[in-house]
Amino acid sequence: MTRHRVLITRRVPPSGLDLLQANDVDVDIFDQDNPPTRDELLARVPGVAGLITMLSERVDADLLDAAGKSLKIVANFAVGYDNIDLDACRARNIRATNTPGVLTDATADLAWALILSAARRVPEGDRLMRTGKWTGWTPMQLLGLQLRGATLGLFGAGRIGTAVGLRAVGFGMNVIYTNRSRSAALEEQAGARRVEFDELLAESDVLSLHVPLTPETRHRIGAAELVKMKPTVILINTARGPLVDEAALVDALRERRIAMAGFDVYEHEPRMTPGLADLDSVVLLPHLGSATVLTRLQMSTMVAENVLAVLRGDEPPNPIA
Ligand code: NAP
Repeated sequence: MTRHRVLITRRVPPSGLDLLQANDVDVDIFDQDNPPTRDELLARVPGVAGLITMLSERVDADLLDAAGKSLKIVANFAVGYDNIDLDACRARNIRATNTPGVLTDATADLAWALILSAARRVPEGDRLMRTGKWTGWTPMQLLGLQLRGATLGLFGAGRIGTAVGLRAVGFGMNVIYTNRSRSAALEEQAGARRVEFDELLAESDVLSLHVPLTPETRHRIGAAELVKMKPTVILINTARGPLVDEAALVDALRERRIAMAGFDVYEHEPRMTPGLADLDSVVLLPHLGSATVLTRLQMSTMVAENVLAVLRGDEPPNPIA
């Protein structure tokens, strides 16, 4: 039987690699935490049957052609797949897959970590303690937003947006959302109301983004949208950086036209938009949405299951192309 070679572009939990090896696949791994350079990737793909990619790898026609006719599947180690040219995959009969579901709770929890941190100004308090500048309790220090009774707005109510909204019930928040289709779970279990995008901007006390990055959603939050928000709003982004025009965001935060931002993803990551990190009114995390031990283990297994299905000639469990 022909042995297949599968290239994986980063060090990941071993569950998936073990599964591949147990099924006679030769696993070729960039055994490192940093992304390979484009040239390193192009040099190593020729002859692979499967390619396991991270969101930071651009999977385009050139990369697929460099891999050659042997390539049967690109398995993305992420639920978002804006890094993959799906038309280029389809044109070459290459299947593409992602890892939906297993990262929903981890990412929803992290969105809440940002909501609570921003609402209660946790990083500012932490910095005050660490710098030895705290002089004691005072009634006017670091006052934040009371969540009970406030309105949580969700842009995108798929798996993660819905999970974020359902968690709001415990905090006594009102939930509104904008999505092309209705989320019955949000409406029935969180009493959520579906609203037009402009109402979402105007009414949210906390606005959390959960749509995928597409040509339609790129820079969906820019200068024109920021002026429609409450001056007290907290903007949360755990979806994809380019949903937000970050230069416009920095201006709005500097001029206090919006109150706070809590971000896990960035427009030019891993680079930061100038000025963002200088602001006290932002909470910044290094793209940790799916970073729990369990979720990363499940993602590793899931990419391997998708690869093995395609190499066997079966339909993969999580197809996107
Ligand atoms: P999902 O279940 O596909 O949900 C996305 C939702 O967005 C869908 O309900 C879709 O519903 C809606 N949508 C798409 N385009 C829209 C538009 N133009 N206007 C309004 N709504 C739109 O995906 P998910 O699993 O929740 O993941 C969401 C995103 O989170 C991923 O694409 C990924 O980029 C990001 N993510 C980030 C991390 C992280 O580490 N920070 C981790 C996981 C995921 P309709 O089609 O009905 O509108």
